[in-house]
Amino acid sequence: MTIKDLIEDVVAANRILAAENVVDAFGHVSARHPEKPRHYFIARALPPELITAEDIMEITLDGEVVNGDTRKPYLERHIHGAIYEAQPDVKSVVHSHSRSVIPYSVTDERLRPIVHSCATIGGHIPVWDAQATFGDTNMLISSMAMGRDFAKVLGQNNAALMRGHGCTVIGRSVREAVYTAVYLEVNAGLQMQASRFPPVKFLTEGEIKIICQRLADAKPNEGYDRAWEYWCRHAGIEARTRTPDSI
Ligand SMILES: [Zn+2]
Repeated sequence: MTIKDLIEDVVAANRILAAENVVDAFGHVSARHPEKPRHYFIARALPPELITAEDIMEITLDGEVVNGDTRKPYLERHIHGAIYEAQPDVKSVVHSHSRSVIPYSVTDERLRPIVHSCATIGGHIPVWDAQATFGDTNMLISSMAMGRDFAKVLGQNNAALMRGHGCTVIGRSVREAVYTAVYLEVNAGLQMQASRFPPVKFLTEGEIKIICQRLADAKPNEGYDRAWEYWCRHAGIEARTRTPDSI
């Protein structure tokens, strides 16, 4: 994938996450630089729905803006840098204040997949609490120390919640991260409904593994690409969707 195509996906991801109510005025999505793994692309501090390719900045894992760009970056960019630093195979990160997940960040009720399309959120979704290491804060991840502390709690999982704040998901591509971010919100809403009729039957670890493998093995235009194509249309944007030779 060229850098131009990757930036196009980052822009589309912002618009999709806004259209699917995962982000509002806040939240962000990034992609690791394919040629400089210690850099990543992320928009300047703007609401995701307003972002165009001109708003994308290049930032080092430490959070420094490069290329003499003086525009204001997101305060919480350290979430992205710290995860890329800890996990070389992660290529994209989405952070949101996705509303339906919040109850699972402030109670003992654990968020877990209950429907097949939500399997990529993973069987274990840890909750990070800023209070545990940093005491009273404004709850935002505003330093690399906080980002690294969060990345440690996220571990090898695909998603983690932040107590009283939101959630962050990772992906091996922008499309995978967006898929997991959308379905984390969907699963949270459905789990909330199902919890009215206990006991709730969750996906087993075996089911989660098989479903995730099927998505990972999907051919072009299937799986994550199929969801992407739908969400682009739903968000009213023109974006790279089908690979030309398959039409
Ligand atoms: Zn946040």
